[in-house]
Amino acid sequence: MALIVQKYGGTSVGTVERIGRVADKIAAQRKKGDDLVVVVSAMSGETDRLTEMAGQIHDHPPAADVDVLLSTGEQVTIALLSMALAKRECPARCYTGSQVPIRTDNAYSKARIREIGPERMRADLDEGRVVVVAGFQGVDEDGRITTLGRGGSDTTAVALAAALKADECQIYTDVDGVYTTDPRVEPRAKRLEKITFEEMLEMASLGSKVLQIRAVEFAGKYNVPLRVLSTFEDGPGTLISYEDDNVEEAVISGIAFNKDEAQITVAGIPDKPGVAYRILGPIADANIEVDVIVQNVSKDGSTDLTFTVHHRDYDTALELARKSAAELEAREVSGNTDIVKISIVGVGMHSHAGVASRMFEALANEGINILMISTSEIKVSVVVQARYLELGVRALHDAFELNKGPVSPEAPENW
Ligand code: ASP
Ligand code: MG
Repeated sequence: MALIVQKYGGTSVGTVERIGRVADKIAAQRKKGDDLVVVVSAMSGETDRLTEMAGQIHDHPPAADVDVLLSTGEQVTIALLSMALAKRECPARCYTGSQVPIRTDNAYSKARIREIGPERMRADLDEGRVVVVAGFQGVDEDGRITTLGRGGSDTTAVALAAALKADECQIYTDVDGVYTTDPRVEPRAKRLEKITFEEMLEMASLGSKVLQIRAVEFAGKYNVPLRVLSTFEDGPGTLISYEDDNVEEAVISGIAFNKDEAQITVAGIPDKPGVAYRILGPIADANIEVDVIVQNVSKDGSTDLTFTVHHRDYDTALELARKSAAELEAREVSGNTDIVKISIVGVGMHSHAGVASRMFEALANEGINILMISTSEIKVSVVVQARYLELGVRALHDAFELNKGPVSPEAPENW
């Protein structure tokens, strides 16, 4: 029989009634003989509610205190779920992070897991019990409670799966898998059967917010097969693993986009060694991530440098660029916050020539002007005017024939 770690997110345990339904699912699966470790999030909205309360007391509450507060959300759900399982005569035991124990560093509110003691969980599993664990939390060297950052229950689940060498880590959520793109932008988006860790990381960091990025990194590092699936309806979901034996079939697995970036251009810089460093160095020193970078030299011997940063860093980066530009006697500095980055992602692309040109052709056919281009082994990204987001994503979804498949279902209202 398999050992499976399951994680149920906030909406899946959002009401007492839903907790009962989750318990039904778990009890049924336990009856079939699988060993189960179940990680739960706080009931939906609870972490936000607690955070707000803290904010009413202190503008900058001590992070360690915030962690004690926020960890209570998950403590409520493990207790309620254990009771619901008891009611169904399914033996279970519940643990907070520190009781497991899940040991972390002491970076409160964004702690990293260092070590997990699996003995207690193993003993329960040997006795036939379901183990219920509070997500998102751990304990530091001094015995103080820590939390892992928003969405951290995904990471808890993956870490437990790695520690227990589980056969699979299943993330139950309100969508039935990972999609070729965001169904709100392209209603014909379809569920992927499989995707690789590398692709999922590109999709996640480019804006598909199905899974916490850290959880995907962790799963890749420890080779834990991850499955995303719906709590509300039966189905196979999407498997995320290293397996890529059907690379030949799909050139592109999905289309991601990111609306969080803004563009800065420094034009007419005297073309000398070191100018890119003079402009981007101070920005890096200010801890600002630069994403896409394009530089080119014009005939008159001057150079233009264009790059993108996150919206929240735009003002600071623009100011730093202006300062460097003045020192370098560049002609002008301009910015554009009205952009979007669209990326096609797929491990299959490096074995197929012409992927990028197919992308550019599809965008050209719609009259979409490309502002910047960047490529890596498994993706091609373009920066375009924000108003072209929907048109661009749909055109690419068509061009790469990602539309062939069932229409995305929505979670039933009455679940
Ligand atoms: N309850 C935490 C949050 O809302 C952790 C989680 O749900 O994964 O971010
Ligand atoms: Mg979540």
